[in-house]
Amino acid sequence: MELLVGKTLKELRDWAVQKGLERYRADQIYHWIYKKWEDDPERFTNLSKDLRRWLKENARFHALEKVEKVEGPDSVKYLFRTDDGHLVETVLIKEKDHWTLCVSTQIGCNVGCTFCATARDGLIRNLTAAEIVDQLLWVQKDIKDLPKPWHKVRNVVFMGMGEPLANFNNLKKAVEIFVDQKGVDVSKRRLTVSSSGILYQLKKMAEDPVLSQVNLAISLNAPDQETREKIMPVTRTNRFEDLWKFLTNYPLPEGRKITLEYVLIKGVNDSPEHARKLARLVAPHRKRFKVNLIPFNPSPTLPYERPSEEVVRRFQKILLDEAIIATIRWSKGQEVFGACGQLRAKREIPLLGGGFVKN
Ligand code: SAH
Ligand code: SF4
Repeated sequence: MELLVGKTLKELRDWAVQKGLERYRADQIYHWIYKKWEDDPERFTNLSKDLRRWLKENARFHALEKVEKVEGPDSVKYLFRTDDGHLVETVLIKEKDHWTLCVSTQIGCNVGCTFCATARDGLIRNLTAAEIVDQLLWVQKDIKDLPKPWHKVRNVVFMGMGEPLANFNNLKKAVEIFVDQKGVDVSKRRLTVSSSGILYQLKKMAEDPVLSQVNLAISLNAPDQETREKIMPVTRTNRFEDLWKFLTNYPLPEGRKITLEYVLIKGVNDSPEHARKLARLVAPHRKRFKVNLIPFNPSPTLPYERPSEEVVRRFQKILLDEAIIATIRWSKGQEVFGACGQLRAKREIPLLGGGFVKN
């Protein structure tokens, strides 16, 4: 059985030709998979009956198995299982006038941020490009009959489980498939890769013709080396100063900004002094950056607390007073354990209607 999800148009054409099909058949199949969100070849109506039957017997249209869907008031968490039995989480977030899909790129993560539940498991393995792409395909299949604009995922953020840039080649391929206008067609302006700031991989991203065109978000989480090193051990080898220098020089596409994500953790990085330090750093480059403050989302395995709303607002105000764009993300998805930092590879997950699934 050949897995067709996760193939680019070129790969699908090569495969078709190798199987003795006409090249344009690949284009038709590509359209069914990535534009029509169809996973049953019986319904590929512009193909002959024989070809449909042949596809049914010889091709696979999902890399993941859909296990469960947990609905909260403003988000939906999907749980998938890989062929080798791992669970992958994907969160669909309802914004005012569109959906944002938060996709995972790894099972676990080895970056080791002390405030992140995903880090607890270490890295189990990278997801394949097919497994990354299939998260969106399953969700699309689920929402495609909703009334506009809810029939299609508009924004995609690589902010689920894992460090996307540590899985560079699969990330690159998945992004190429997502932005292809012949297929999924997510706008490059509406696709964001979030990274903990691993410098040599960021440099590769900057040099890549496709990845350099999508949005970059950096989990900064601190205004200096000392504070960042405490919560993000990668800072020992990726020095704050070097990261900052890189970001101020990053070749940004026209009219774009880099998002600086800042998880606010009580008593760790949330003081007015931290805010002033951050403001001093960003102010000279205020056109290049926007700050997204994320009040820490607690998880039973994490030793931190969320600051009060007052502390969060005070932090924001110090930035705003310096004319820096600073928003607060009161994480959605907390009810379904799908909020930032709450995604884990191995854990019991409550199901709709009671009960738990276990990895
Ligand atoms: N590995 C990438 C992307 C996944 S994490 C990265 O680190 O950027 C996505 C975002 O969730 C990051 O900005 C991270 O700082 C944030 N995050 C992690 N744990 C969190 C928690 N417990 N509460 C709130 N945000 C958290
Ligand atoms: Fe990995 Fe991102 Fe979590 Fe850090 S915050 S451990 S980089 S997933």
